Amino acid sequence: MGRLCEHPPSAIVFDYGNTLVEFSQRHVDRCDAALGRALGAVFGAYDEARFRALREANRFAPYRNGYRESRMPEITRDLVVDLFGCQPSAAEVDRVVAARFDAFVDAIEGEPATLAVLDELRGRFSLAVLSNYPCGRSIRESLERVGILPFLDVVVVSGDIGYAKPHPKPFAEVCAALECPASDVVFVGDNWLADVQGARRAGMTMVRMRRFTPPEDFAPAPDDLAPHATIGHLTELVALL
Ligand SMILES: [Mg+2]
Repeated sequence: MGRLCEHPPSAIVFDYGNTLVEFSQRHVDRCDAALGRALGAVFGAYDEARFRALREANRFAPYRNGYRESRMPEITRDLVVDLFGCQPSAAEVDRVVAARFDAFVDAIEGEPATLAVLDELRGRFSLAVLSNYPCGRSIRESLERVGILPFLDVVVVSGDIGYAKPHPKPFAEVCAALECPASDVVFVGDNWLADVQGARRAGMTMVRMRRFTPPEDFAPAPDDLAPHATIGHLTELVALL
């Protein structure tokens, strides 16, 4: 019997960015720089300050929109309309979206220590990733590139289902795919609102990861629920289970 749960859990569900891999400001900057280069190559010069403001708004959009996840082609087209005052063709949008995909996948690096933890946990538990990102294909490609995908039974991405954490839908979706109730799941994530509140409201046991400095997070609200445990490195999770 573990120290964290009354009964041993059936599944461990991980957030991706800043939980299994680092995705800090330098990663955001790298992706935005690649997006800026792609926009410049297709449409010409643009207002850099306006671009940064729009990207910032993009990142928080799901949290201001009932946790509805954005669609990558749509937000890319809206960027072009705002920055260049023209309607891009579908081919132009595809070209910029492809550059975003490549930049995202290239920016993320894996770590042997993470793979070792997943290797230790697999077999004992079902393992899943539940990530907020507008493009599910980007997350899957990245998981494969960093070597995490073979350890996972299930991958659920907000972009594929239209709703972002902390909305209940992504949590229900991952439980359905794992065929296990939320009460049998340990969720590991970094974001106070998306992960801690989302997982707790869904009825999961929640472990908060505090290793990395995420580019965005949310301050606790008065009635917020606390994580059941906090860790500073993924290796600490094994002892908790
Ligand atoms: Mg995260």
